Amino acid sequence: MNHVARAAWLLLLGACILPDEGPSARYEFEEPHMGTKVRLIFYASSPEQAEQGRRAAFAVMKDVDDLMSDYKPESELSRLSRNAGKGPQSVSPALFEVLQVSIRTAELSQGAFDISAGPLVRLWRRSRKELKLPTAAEIAFATSLVDYRQLVLDPQKRTAELRKEGMTLDLGGIAKGYACDLGIRALKAQGITRALVDTGGGMALSDPPPGKPGWRIGMIGDSSRVLVLSNCGVSTSGDLEQFVEIDGKRYSHIIDPATGLGLTNRAMATVIAPDGLTSDALDTPICILGAERGLKMAAGQKGVEAWTQWIENGRRKRAETPGFARYAVPAED
Ligand code: ADP
Ligand code: MG
Repeated sequence: MNHVARAAWLLLLGACILPDEGPSARYEFEEPHMGTKVRLIFYASSPEQAEQGRRAAFAVMKDVDDLMSDYKPESELSRLSRNAGKGPQSVSPALFEVLQVSIRTAELSQGAFDISAGPLVRLWRRSRKELKLPTAAEIAFATSLVDYRQLVLDPQKRTAELRKEGMTLDLGGIAKGYACDLGIRALKAQGITRALVDTGGGMALSDPPPGKPGWRIGMIGDSSRVLVLSNCGVSTSGDLEQFVEIDGKRYSHIIDPATGLGLTNRAMATVIAPDGLTSDALDTPICILGAERGLKMAAGQKGVEAWTQWIENGRRKRAETPGFARYAVPAED
């Protein structure tokens, strides 16, 4: 490529020249994975490097879905659920890691976050299809199968055991954050260090775009501010996209294990954490626990900040951890 052609090409891609890193151009790719659109934005020094990065990142994210989707009957997670009540089962290192963080989050949130909520999630999905709430008896039966303490891990043998037949795991509240982390790691292995991996509500970020202090991330639920972030995870959970309306009430896909039903207070939470796995794990229980308990839980975790919004007595309320504003700037800046 001659100089003029190269310069034009770089301009087209919104490129910039970095003294220490050579020419770097912005790339953006999108593919459907994990039941959502996954977006990669990163800076690479050649189209070849970008293509390798794209392939590597999407491949690991597809692997996570193949292991951890409860929609796929052949996923490792579905197999584990099918073997509930049949003793300890060997699991892959990746699934084991996510199960460990899930149990830690369940303990931390006193059971508000509970990946064994699978039977309740199934009832919620049926409600969405039929526009009818489950009966009290159905909720009681499903709830009797929900208890993260009956999911027992053995780190030495790397096994997981669901102690009660009928228990069903659902990693919908956490696996996407983990997949984002692996996407970032895969890009780094290709030499791509300035990247953003986005699964809609959850993201992981590495170094900022060239010459910028961070990636600018719009806040869902607060258009007056933008987050400026790098080398972290950020996730938002709420009822904006996934909900069912029955008798004029909106039931979120976030289920309170204490009631067996989706939240109806329009709660939403955004979490900034050292990685995507942590931010995705924490956004869900903050919605369930509410501002006081939820933000206290978040503030107690290293490198974690959180924001939440909900409706109380017909009025919108907002609260955040003391350090959250450090990452926010006015939207017009
Ligand atoms: P998303 O990014 O898809 O909005 P969230 O992080 O908000 O995901 O998690 C919502 C998903 O988590 C639900 O669709 C369901 O699969 C699962 N889930 C719902 N309630 C709970 C709960 N109490 N504990 C753990 N997972 C839950
Ligand atoms: Mg989550």
